[in-house]
Amino acid sequence: MPDVLVLVDHDGERVHKSTYELLAAARQLGDPAAVVVGTPGTTARLGESLARHGAVNVYAAESAEAGDFLGTPAVDALELAVREAAPAAVLVSATTDGKEVAGRLAARLDAGLLIDAVGLDSAGTVTQIVFGGSCTVSSEVTHGVPVIAVRPGSFEPAEHPVEARDRVLAPLPIDPAASARITARRAVLAGDRPALTEAAVVVSGGRGVGGADGFKVVEELADVLGGAVGASRAAVDAGYYPHQYQVGQTGKSVSPQLYIALGISGAIQHLAGMQTSKTIVAVNKDPEAPVFGLTDFGVVGDLFTVAPQLTEEVAARRAVG
Ligand code: FAD
Repeated sequence: MPDVLVLVDHDGERVHKSTYELLAAARQLGDPAAVVVGTPGTTARLGESLARHGAVNVYAAESAEAGDFLGTPAVDALELAVREAAPAAVLVSATTDGKEVAGRLAARLDAGLLIDAVGLDSAGTVTQIVFGGSCTVSSEVTHGVPVIAVRPGSFEPAEHPVEARDRVLAPLPIDPAASARITARRAVLAGDRPALTEAAVVVSGGRGVGGADGFKVVEELADVLGGAVGASRAAVDAGYYPHQYQVGQTGKSVSPQLYIALGISGAIQHLAGMQTSKTIVAVNKDPEAPVFGLTDFGVVGDLFTVAPQLTEEVAARRAVG
């Protein structure tokens, strides 16, 4: 079976869940093969967990400056791996960075690119969310190695232990004049909550939350469910919550098991970022709010009455369980 290359998302110590999802997706098209881009020693730290999730080949693209440039090291490494492995496809996570890498790689390879994939089958047909989430289409790449950016949360990660073969790629030195160098880093204070794009539960607040203080209600419900907090663009633009938590067309795309929208009307640009969630719940005091068109369970009511009761009930059941 041909390799299916997967670009590994990691923080140097730990493989992100989105990569395990990609390895599961890759198995439908061929032999999953992980491409690790990082500083020397990164692949050795991540190799065991990649093999446990089915990576038959693990390609190491390591260099001291791998973390100093935006995107370029990953594009270089994937290009080399494609030339070496002649894969059936290349999969990356459809994050902001992942989409940039996918676009640049497809341009370099003169290959077809599919963004925001939420499903794929063994024949290479990809289900894609397009036009800001207003349409779902089936697509196929007809030219070159398909480069596919897959939305986090679209596939179930699964353990599939294999004996991985280690491969070494030797990326050429990066041309600083043609690359964006990272000049400073600032840690994001994310607390103990799971990352928005990896969480099984996301509780989001909108303009209806009314202010930064109101987000306490959103956070309490997220915490009792072990989930992440998200926000609509109206909420972040109004300064209720930091921008990095925005869900939607111009924010993050999420696909958790459970998405709870509190005080969010359901504009198409918000839905674009969460409509593939497995179960969607909304609390809104307007029975005509468009969000109810998408929900599995809708509550017409004041979020400041409904959400605390929900938090209390979940906490009580957890205490019994
Ligand atoms: P509103 O539309 O104002 O809705 C607030 C809701 O809260 C109302 O339905 C109201 O009934 C309800 N409410 C009020 N008080 C309560 C209460 N006490 N209890 C219960 N319910 C209550 N938006 C995004 O979210 N993400 C994006 O990525 C995004 N990208 C965009 C890109 C473009 C190019 C454009 C043009 C727009 C984008 N938007 C995005 C904005 C989007 O169009 C909407 O304006 C935004 O999603 C509205 O946010 P909201 O639902 O919080 O606010």
